[in-house]
Amino acid sequence: MYKISLITGDGIGPELSESVTEILHAISDKIGLKLDINPVEAGDIALKKTGKALPDSTLDAIKKSDACLKAPVGESAADVIVVLRRMLDLYANIRPAKSYPNMPSLRENIDLVIVRENTEDLYTGMEFDVGNAAVALRTISEYASRRIAKYAFMTAKQRNKQNKVTCVHKSNVMRKTDGLFARTCAQVAKDYDNIAFEQMYVDACAMNLIRQPEAFDVIVTTNLFGDILSDEAAQVVGGLGMAPAANIGENFALFEPVHGAAFDIAGKQAANPSSFILSAKMMLEWLAMKNNDSKSFSVAKKIEEAVYGVVSEGIKTKDIGGNNTTKEFTHKVISKLT
Ligand code: ATP
Repeated sequence: MYKISLITGDGIGPELSESVTEILHAISDKIGLKLDINPVEAGDIALKKTGKALPDSTLDAIKKSDACLKAPVGESAADVIVVLRRMLDLYANIRPAKSYPNMPSLRENIDLVIVRENTEDLYTGMEFDVGNAAVALRTISEYASRRIAKYAFMTAKQRNKQNKVTCVHKSNVMRKTDGLFARTCAQVAKDYDNIAFEQMYVDACAMNLIRQPEAFDVIVTTNLFGDILSDEAAQVVGGLGMAPAANIGENFALFEPVHGAAFDIAGKQAANPSSFILSAKMMLEWLAMKNNDSKSFSVAKKIEEAVYGVVSEGIKTKDIGGNNTTKEFTHKVISKLT
């Protein structure tokens, strides 16, 4: 039995949470992988109720669980996810982008994963007013660069697809910070004989993600570049509604869609739950690896196949060119889980 904490979120968060809960319950009932889902509050609703976007009781519940699923939260997102990433040292942000059938996407045969450093760069919040200017500090350490580079090479090895890591940076301009990042990745590459290593400037990478996305396997990059490139990659394969993500640490991990709370479509049954369903699939893969649990791994595969099957049949939400509701999509996925 795995204990899963579920942050139900704001905007479309509650609808996505309902979808994923139904699917995970179906997995418990139909396939026998027991999952104890514990819904917890964080974000705008929690802030309004308790005065804290991340209440202590929520943090306690998350710490007691085996893994956390997090639906998107609204305006207070930074006070939830950035804090959780830091407190739980979730240093690797993993964002796969994969072609699904029947998508309004630009290209087929895309199967890449962006491994984004999650703890430093310009996202540490070290910003200051200096007279009439504002200054932000960019931190890149050898420790964090080495740790994320190793994660990227391990990912390429496990995927066993193109066996390639592309290190993305801008060391021709940011010579100190990105110079250190690129140098460290190149050093780590020497420990992985069977994995090819290449380097690419971030502007070239942004272009190549449109021009030839199928040429990428694993991209490793710093926090800000990874944030931007992963939204681009998501759009190339069909949009944010299809984009899952994982935040991984040494002993704990949190799984969430790449997108935000999408208030414009909240409460309308228009949200595409795939991003959150595929995040749950990543969670089961992570639990499988951590616990050497082949059943969890096979259920993860079944979830992906079910989503693949549903969109193949043209059952789709509006964002990907269909007219099905969140519930209809969810129930179709459940009908394919055996
Ligand atoms: P954030 O800054 O928190 O990432 P945002 O407001 O910039 O959030 P998102 O909420 O991520 O942007 O989404 C942008 C738009 O994409 C939304 O307004 C919505 O129309 C669409 N969108 C995002 N996620 C989904 C989804 N799961 N299903 C359908 N449409 C979505």
